[in-house]
Amino acid sequence: MAPIKALNTEELLFEEKTLYQPPLEELREVIQSTLAKNFENVSVEVTACPDLKSAEYGLMDSGLGGSPMLLEVGGPPYLLPLVQRDKLYNVKEICQKSMNGGKILAVGAGAGPHPLRSSNCEGIYNMSISSDGQLKNGSYTAKVSGLEESCVLESIPDTEPRCALLLNLFVCRGEPGSVIKITCKKRTGHLNFIECIRQGLLQKYGEKCVGMGGIFKINQGKAYQHVMRDFSKTPINNEKELNQWLKFFEMPATLNALGVLITHENDLDLRLQHFHSFSTSNWGGHYHYDTTPETVEYEAYFNVAERIVRVDKPLETHKFGRD
Ligand SMILES: [Zn+2]
Repeated sequence: MAPIKALNTEELLFEEKTLYQPPLEELREVIQSTLAKNFENVSVEVTACPDLKSAEYGLMDSGLGGSPMLLEVGGPPYLLPLVQRDKLYNVKEICQKSMNGGKILAVGAGAGPHPLRSSNCEGIYNMSISSDGQLKNGSYTAKVSGLEESCVLESIPDTEPRCALLLNLFVCRGEPGSVIKITCKKRTGHLNFIECIRQGLLQKYGEKCVGMGGIFKINQGKAYQHVMRDFSKTPINNEKELNQWLKFFEMPATLNALGVLITHENDLDLRLQHFHSFSTSNWGGHYHYDTTPETVEYEAYFNVAERIVRVDKPLETHKFGRD
């Protein structure tokens, strides 16, 4: 079988919208008050970004600053009901086009490049691109392996710039600067960490669309996360069939989750939140919620995005598979 090439970046539809950027200090107050309804201990501050390149965070560059933006490519309609295997994208080129070149850090969640693993897989994206176009990949795939269906986390090499099907990235210059730092523990409400923040922002800002992204860590506790099995040979037509096809795991801390959230679809057919996590063990996957409200501890660093770039938006769309 001939290798499947990524779609030509120059032929993809790119759309862009400016987002509303509240001051970080105002965001701090909004996030503090919404999380306080869902967690017993909450601290939100505006602070200088720690060195996210350090081992405990593991990003490919040190900060979340410099022209921060959100990027969404493709979408669940290319996976469901049946996979469209030709939907392979060159993430490096798409980031470079969106940022007009220069130095780039891109982190987030998507479908992994299935030709690399000869299987469908999750993609945990963590890429730096130098101003002369060198890609350094700190990205991983997570897949379901063997008869025992274990979770396997594997590094993506620097030579692999692709993702498949769908992708949500926070993209910036990787520069130091101010970020929102969140620590919280002991969950008392039913919303997951990201949904709680997103709902708080939506209530405050309404029609004004606000997007954020970066990293959160689960330092204590466990999280319910899925990993996609290999592509289904039969159509998946609804949320119930989807949840039977996905393989769910309860994954233990420490988990480092990368991704984005946005308050509403902004007429761009967007996924509203998407985080994938990696670990230093075999665990990696798509975050749904923690399963340990008493003991869970979150630590997050987010920046607010100036704009969103939407690439290859599905023309025939549906609304399932976006949790
Ligand atoms: Zn996902």
